[in-house]
Amino acid sequence: MNLMPASSFSWLSWAGYWLRRNRTVIRNVQLIVLLVYVILILVPVFMPLPDDTSHIWSNFTVFTKFVFWGIWWPFVLLSIVVLGRVWCGVLCPEGTLSEFASQHGLNRSIPRWMRWAGWPFVVFTCTTIYGQMVSVYEYPNAVLLVLGGSTVAAIVIGLLYGRGKRVWCKYLCPVNGVFALLARLSPLYYRVDTKAWIHSYTQSEHSHRVIPVNCAPLLPLRNMKSASACHMCGRCSGHRNAIMLSWRSPAQEVIELGGTAANRWDTVLILYGMLGIAIGAFHWTISPIFVLIKQSLAAWLIDHDIMWPLQTNAPWFIFTHYPDQNDVFSWLDGGLVISYIVTTGLLYGTALLACISIGNLLLGPWNSSRLHHFAQALIPLAGMSVFLGLSSTTVSMLRAEHLPLSWVPDAWFALLALANIVSLYLAVKIIIRYTYRISAAAVRRVGALLCFCVALAVTNSAWWLMFWRWA
Ligand code: SF4
Repeated sequence: MNLMPASSFSWLSWAGYWLRRNRTVIRNVQLIVLLVYVILILVPVFMPLPDDTSHIWSNFTVFTKFVFWGIWWPFVLLSIVVLGRVWCGVLCPEGTLSEFASQHGLNRSIPRWMRWAGWPFVVFTCTTIYGQMVSVYEYPNAVLLVLGGSTVAAIVIGLLYGRGKRVWCKYLCPVNGVFALLARLSPLYYRVDTKAWIHSYTQSEHSHRVIPVNCAPLLPLRNMKSASACHMCGRCSGHRNAIMLSWRSPAQEVIELGGTAANRWDTVLILYGMLGIAIGAFHWTISPIFVLIKQSLAAWLIDHDIMWPLQTNAPWFIFTHYPDQNDVFSWLDGGLVISYIVTTGLLYGTALLACISIGNLLLGPWNSSRLHHFAQALIPLAGMSVFLGLSSTTVSMLRAEHLPLSWVPDAWFALLALANIVSLYLAVKIIIRYTYRISAAAVRRVGALLCFCVALAVTNSAWWLMFWRWA
């Protein structure tokens, strides 16, 4: 048995231990979530599409749309910041299925290509863009294709690789990268007491056998310092009397571990993914720039008698195609959606990278680790950006129900301000770490901080456009 001594138990460590002891309860909860998930993505496919008179409370398809995009996704994101990746380890239906499949599959070793560190950015970007191409927020077929396709892929990967592991979640899940970044802000983590771990070796030689832990996301438990990849499943709670669910400062991981743990793909995901591609995906539907470019290009094509880009014969699984709803993308529309999102991603990402890079240079000779560490200070704002973008879907659905939501812009402003303050705090702490021993530190600090403030302003401009200028 691996039990923490009773004296060292707080209610929090008890919660972690409860998770470990009550695997049956957790499995039942996972089954219920899985059942709800299957109903939500499957049933609307067999129902007629809603019309203008349909409401959240009177039409199941509108209801599922609200549950998925209005509640489920924004609050899963929020839960990661508050509780760590409890969603992944305890509730996620894809994780559940992938692990179950892995227990009954071929148990192959994980291939080299899958370990590539760029997957989190690539799969996030591809899923985000494809979701917009097929209007995943609007149509049940698209939801089934995108979410159901991801679930099938999770099962297949589970069947092929690992033995009772979550290989899909660790390497290929489209939101793994985003969750791994947000979990760095979590005030909860599984703390490993190295001394207790070493001590447990001497004890275990003389007394009881240590029961091995199946850490599904394959973490090196003894050296685990980060909450980033931990799924918070609680299975290791109390292991070797050395691992305990604990509190920490939400800033601790970014400030203390960012210098060694952050890498270039984290930076790419923050700057070009969460603060670039995702913003483009939220922007294009209301952007007057998009409309202007589309109209100009369409006119030019007609003038030059090039008609095929204006045809609307793409199938629904390539570009949105619902003639009965008057919602059909031409090849031009679809191509422009992709171009707009990618261009927005490149523009915002590059502007932010320039700010962070100049700030990095001001802190001393070029240092890539410091650059990636500095970029981590933008995680709170990046997470809030994705949350705000998703919440705009929630709000537009509630507005359609004529609910009084005049307070929403103020709430958006407050949330944005909070994220800016937290990011600024992290940036100050990171800058101090790199400048406390160098000459002219004050000048360098102020310069780097100004660069960071410009990066904040660049990001805020995206939300000013979306919520106030174009709204
Ligand atoms: S380290 Fe592994 S076993 Fe422990 S809580 Fe995290 S995911 Fe679960």
